[in-house]
Order: sequence, then C-alpha cells, then structure tokens
Amino acid sequence: MQSEAPIYLDFQATTPVDPRVLVEMLPYFSERWGNPHATNHAFGRSAANAIAAARSEVAALIGADPREMIFTSGATEANNLLLKGAAALMAAAGRPRIVTCATEHKAVIEVAQRLQRDGFSVTVLGVPSSGILDLASIERSLGPDVGLVSIMAVNNEIGVEQPIEGIGRLCRQHGALFHTDAAQAGGKIPLNVARMNIDLLSLSAHKLYGPQGIGAAFIRRSLRHQFTPLVDGGGQEGGLRAGTVPTALCVAFGAAARLARQEMESERSRLRSLRDRLLTLLGDARLGFVVNGELERRWPGNLNLSFRDVDAEALLMTVGERLALSSGSACTTRSIEPSHVISALTNDQDRIEGAVRIGFGRSTTPAEIDKAAEILIAAVQRLCSVRHTAMEDL
Ligand SMILES: *Cc1c(COP(=O)(O)O)cnc(C)c1O
Repeated sequence: MQSEAPIYLDFQATTPVDPRVLVEMLPYFSERWGNPHATNHAFGRSAANAIAAARSEVAALIGADPREMIFTSGATEANNLLLKGAAALMAAAGRPRIVTCATEHKAVIEVAQRLQRDGFSVTVLGVPSSGILDLASIERSLGPDVGLVSIMAVNNEIGVEQPIEGIGRLCRQHGALFHTDAAQAGGKIPLNVARMNIDLLSLSAHKLYGPQGIGAAFIRRSLRHQFTPLVDGGGQEGGLRAGTVPTALCVAFGAAARLARQEMESERSRLRSLRDRLLTLLGDARLGFVVNGELERRWPGNLNLSFRDVDAEALLMTVGERLALSSGSACTTRSIEPSHVISALTNDQDRIEGAVRIGFGRSTTPAEIDKAAEILIAAVQRLCSVRHTAMEDL
C-alpha cells in the first residue's frame, strides 16, 4: 500500500550531492586520477590544477584569498584545527578565556570543553528565546583575558542567524580572535571575512550539496604561520593538514560552492515561500504549535516546531518512513537526550521534548510540502486524540 518514496525534510543533517556537482567530480575518480602532490608529471599537475581552481571557488564563497583556505575532512575537523590552533596563540598572548554560546554545535562545545580541561577558561553565553545573541551580552563578556570568541553563523537546529558582523566588530575592538562555524551558512547567506572581521571560519561541503568527507578551514593570513597542525605528515596544505588532498572531493566542493553562490538569492526566496506554505497549511488545520527560535532572522530552509501535547519521538514514529525529519540534532542521535539547543531557549519540558526539525532544500517541491503537511496533520491529530482518550480513561 505505502510504497511511495519518503519525503526528505532533513537538509540540515546533510544534503544530496547536486547532479551538476557529481558530473564535475566523477572524472577525477577515473580518467583524471593522479596524486596532486606529484607535480613532476602531467597526472599530478592536472589534479593540482583542479584543486587550485576548487580552492578559489570555496574562497570566493567567503571573500577570502585562496591561500587562506585549508581543505579538511569536514567542519568538525575544521573546528578542531581552528579552536585548538587558536588556543596555542591565546596561551602565548596571555589571553586564556574563550567565549562561546549554549546553542553551538557539539563540534565546538566539546572542543571548548577539552580546552577547559587543559586549563583554558570558557564562558558559555545563554541566549534569549529567539535563539539570537544580543550584542550587549557579548560585549559584557569581553575583557583583556578573552583570546577567542566562537559563535556560529547559522544554527543547525533552529536556523537562526547570529549577528556575525556585529560580533566581529566587537572582537576586533577588544583584541579577541573571532571564529565562526559556518557549516550551515556557507552558500546560504552572504559571508565576507574582511567585512565581518572573521579570523577563523569552518565550512562543510555536505551541507551545501557537495559530498560528505570534505570541508575547509579559513585562517586569516596573518595568523597562519603561528598555527600548529592537528595532523603531521607530508606537509600538504601548507603544513597545516598533512595527507593526500582528495582531488575529486575538492572539485565537487568547488562546484557546489560556485552553484550555491550563483543561486543563493533565488533559492532563499523559493525556500521562504515553501516554508510559509507549510506554516499556512499547519495553521489552517488548527494544530497548536510553537516555532522554536525566531522566524524572521532565520535561514528559510529550516523550521523547528513543537506541537502542543505531542512528543517528538512519538511523532517521528507515527510519520514513520513517509517523512524524513529529525528530533533534536542528528549528530547526537542514539541518545534520546533532549536537544541542548531547544533547552537553551526554554525551560518548558513539553516544548523541549516536542521539538521537531523540518529542513527544506534544493529538491523540495510545493507538492512535497502539501503531502508533508497532510502526513504531519494526520499524525498530530492522531497522537492528540490518543492522548485525550487515554486521559479520559484515567
Ligand atoms: C554539520 C555541522 C558540523 C559538522 O560538519 P561535518 O562536515 O559533518 O564534520 C559542524 N557544525 C555545524 C553547525 C554543522 O551543521
């Protein structure tokens, strides 16, 4: 009966490789193999040239110089390289405090916790229920002991955009380095490391229709020579990330970055209309729900909703294989511990346990939205009626 393909609404967990990206990357597995570091022959040089072109595309996404980009395995590795590298600079400068925020990705929070165990001090800023930091609270946290501020650009669970430009300005005024995890922002919102005073930035290809297993770390040129690598070896990536650079993955990342840059504006308005369509359909069905995080200053490919009296795990179970959604963050699955992001917004346990993330992306169609709304509405109504019947039986 139900053999329809499931509808994918989990674009913050990962995105499919765009077919146009796949076409560009495939030849680098077959006809154009070659070790990009073996530049004494044509095989190697062709790979090296392809990587150089890709590096320029990725740099252009954030207004950086290609020489400031280090290819990594993803944003997790980039966050590790950048925060641990910055920590050594902080120690040398006598500025041992890191300022970060309660809604960061685990790949920042856990690195900060490790640095804390190693003797650094860490200030974790709370957020208001909008999920958006206000600049005054950041300014209050800054002092002469703060060496690094790490605040993400777009949140992976609630999609809200932090005031990156303002934070960069404050960091510059107070002499702190500024890192931003831009895994969910790259290719989605305009980023410019010069205008935004960003010193260190992390990107991931698989959040912008490139493949899994490749990302990049931006390191402002003036800091680079002081950085220590996580991985020692053959001196690739300017000695900061040893290991053979994967040509096909880099080519794909470059192609994905170029497409994302070209289509950024049109995609934003298209996603916004899809999101508003879903909100209207759910509202018309008179379901009780709240939107977690501010709706306006948010990447429109994200919604995070808590339905009244509906537990997220039960809802996911009810929609089953028909809708691919997420409760909390996919990166902490296996444990059903409640999302640390929603917990930072509210104390309301029902709302925390009810939070469902819905992500839209490049392949999402209005017909999929209509179908998804139909499935969600039926599931929520069913769970509510079950609950009410159970309560009447008490
Ligand atoms: C996905 C994600 C990461 C991890 O990226 P990987 O490339 O999968 O390591 C880090 N931070 C944020 C905000 C993310 O969304």
